[in-house]
Amino acid sequence: MPSPRLRFAPSPNGRLHLGHAYSAFLNAEIAKALHGDLWLRIEDIDPLRCRPEWADALTADLAWLGLAFPEPVWRQSARMSTYRAALDDLRARNLVYPCPCTRREIQAAGGEGRDPDGAPLYPGTCRGRPVPDAPHAWRLDMARALDLCPGPFAYTAFAPGEPDIVRTADPARWGDAVLGRKDVPTSYHLAVVLDDAAQGITHVVRGQDLEAATDLHVLLQRLLGLPTPRYHHHGLIRDAAGEKLSKSLRSEALAALRERGATPQEVRARLGFA
Ligand code: GLU
Repeated sequence: MPSPRLRFAPSPNGRLHLGHAYSAFLNAEIAKALHGDLWLRIEDIDPLRCRPEWADALTADLAWLGLAFPEPVWRQSARMSTYRAALDDLRARNLVYPCPCTRREIQAAGGEGRDPDGAPLYPGTCRGRPVPDAPHAWRLDMARALDLCPGPFAYTAFAPGEPDIVRTADPARWGDAVLGRKDVPTSYHLAVVLDDAAQGITHVVRGQDLEAATDLHVLLQRLLGLPTPRYHHHGLIRDAAGEKLSKSLRSEALAALRERGATPQEVRARLGFA
């Protein structure tokens, strides 16, 4: 059995808020209970939304909370060649195809159904077409992937102090998901499964908003010959109106709480940690 290893993997596209603090504390608590270690990974693949100053700020916010992580801290922006190689491999196996379609074109194509994130399912317009001159994404050929790996798909969901549950995964509900974006040779889904495997992550603790994504991740792990970690998807911290906290709204940013005089101990207590 590999020794337990967890990761906290925020994206530096805004300041950290209470929801991140909750996830980070929970990761630390579970890592401690399992006698494992907890790594920090900065998920900065998005060149438009991520900023280096936010990456610095998140490191400072986590240090203020009293959380320390082993070095080196991984940054996804430094791993593009690894992602490109994986995409090339999928391409050589005809598991991805190029797609220059814009969001508007996909909308206009009027395909049926939506993926778990609420985006229209890609109707497959570009499947089987040659590589275009225009900038293009790379989409998973879901039908071909499922031919190659017919399933069934499942993963182990764990929760502290509770028996494990085997959850069935249904990757098909993501359709021909983007694995390589137009601007970078990866997408969240591809980068996260490659990095979890490369870092030897055994237990993934992340928000419930990513639970559906795990269905796709299990398929990608199968296609790429990577192990499937165990998963715990935790409830999300909501604001007084019951809305999910969002970095864009700057709601309950840790920096704002700190400026108002809150201590890390108060933040911990407010989030239900002893
Ligand atoms: N980077 C993602 C986020 O900030 C989390 C990814 C993950 O935990 O799998 O929401």
